[in-house]
Amino acid sequence: MDDADVVVIGGGIIGSSIAFQLASRDVGRVVVVEKGAGPAEGSTGASSAIVRTLYSRPETVRLALHGQTAYRNWAEFTGIEQPRSRFHPIGMLWLMGYTNAEAAAARDRLIAEGGVAEVLDAAGVRTRFPALSTCAEPFDLTGQIPHSCRDLEAALYEPDAGFADPTGANQDLIEAARREGAEVLFRSEVQAVRTDPKKVSGVDLTDGRTIRTPLIVNAAGPWCNRLNDMAGVRLGWTISPTRVQVAYRLRPAEVPEPIPVVADAATGIYFRPEASGQQIVFGSVLPEDESERVDPDHLKTGADATFLDSKIHALHHRIPALPHRGTVTGIAGLYAINEEDVHPVIGPTSLDGWWVANGFSGHGFKLAPMVGSMMAQAITGTTRPFDTDVPLSFLSVDRTPLTVQEKSVLA
Ligand SMILES: Cc1cc2nc3c(=O)[nH]c(=O)nc-3n(C[C@H](O)[C@H](O)[C@H](O)COP(=O)(O)OP(=O)(O)OC[C@H]3O[C@@H](n4cnc5c(N)ncnc54)[C@H](O)[C@@H]3O)c2cc1C
Repeated sequence: MDDADVVVIGGGIIGSSIAFQLASRDVGRVVVVEKGAGPAEGSTGASSAIVRTLYSRPETVRLALHGQTAYRNWAEFTGIEQPRSRFHPIGMLWLMGYTNAEAAAARDRLIAEGGVAEVLDAAGVRTRFPALSTCAEPFDLTGQIPHSCRDLEAALYEPDAGFADPTGANQDLIEAARREGAEVLFRSEVQAVRTDPKKVSGVDLTDGRTIRTPLIVNAAGPWCNRLNDMAGVRLGWTISPTRVQVAYRLRPAEVPEPIPVVADAATGIYFRPEASGQQIVFGSVLPEDESERVDPDHLKTGADATFLDSKIHALHHRIPALPHRGTVTGIAGLYAINEEDVHPVIGPTSLDGWWVANGFSGHGFKLAPMVGSMMAQAITGTTRPFDTDVPLSFLSVDRTPLTVQEKSVLA
């Protein structure tokens, strides 16, 4: 029997961030148990890893901004001289069918929280991003309804947004956590949670080991419900493992650079460059593409032909120079969607010593650095450089559901 001061279940981007933040605050012996053979085997490995800040709640904007600051200063944040993950600050363009007044309001909301944003008109978008069509007319993806383009009135641009490498960032956080003294055990699956009886007392692993501990953090991503069941904890939130697809297409030289991260409401897609600009990765921002509830152990990891067909059609509309010939591939990953308000649920629960960081609903990569910060501040009462000032109560288990503009990844 082994002892730990904290056990973190799950070594994805969330668990590794929490472990790093706890270990660097002298909380005692921190042990991460991860059932996979390495990092990023769950949601994190499939992530598009876009780090942008436009959300409907000011606190979420701030959490995303503080996470963005961490990713933009990753070497300093992690203390790793040459981290594996690099932040690509290519900016993000929101083509949401805005009027000038709506775009200005969105810009002002970001600026009020300390962000940087500007409103562009159609000519401004074309000047910066010549590859992009500036059509704002909703587009029928079946091709049945004739389409005639109409120029957008206003777009919002977040120049500091971008993307990182999700697997590399996960590995970096594990390296940083280990350097600070945490132990990270791969191929270590929790099969039971011990309680005593009103507080946690340890975890049993499938290989027969037991780790005794007074504090457990459930950071098991799409498997979180199973762990909460093992602990006998009912969160009171509906968190659903959900299959989410993304597609890849080569970017030939006739498609001019630069291409930013784009959210495109007219066609319901998002996209960004991948592989040093040689590829474009694209996915959906439509709620109906986040509706396939699945058993996380039986995920169909290939993308559906219907998904690829409709989304490539949408991409051609937004990037007219993209040739129609060429292969489109795709994969599917997992979101853990919080159906009540598409925000994560973080912090202590009704069971003494059982903490959760569950239900990231497609936002977990950008929020991960600050989720670690919030959890570690709440557990240890200490602060460090880069910490967020957003209180844990904003996302606590006992909050009432937040009001959001849209119950989707665009929340
Ligand atoms: C296609 C796709 C695109 C996305 N794009 C973005 C984006 O652009 N921006 C953004 O911010 N977010 C994005 N996300 C969301 C983001 O990737 C997730 O919110 C985030 O990775 C969740 O991290 P996690 O650590 O909670 O989960 P995971 O990465 O799933 O980690 C949980 C870990 O727990 C382990 N585990 C489970 N059960 C046990 C057990 N019993 N014992 C031990 N270990 C266990 C699993 O093996 C897993 O490694 C995207 C997600 C997907 C799928």
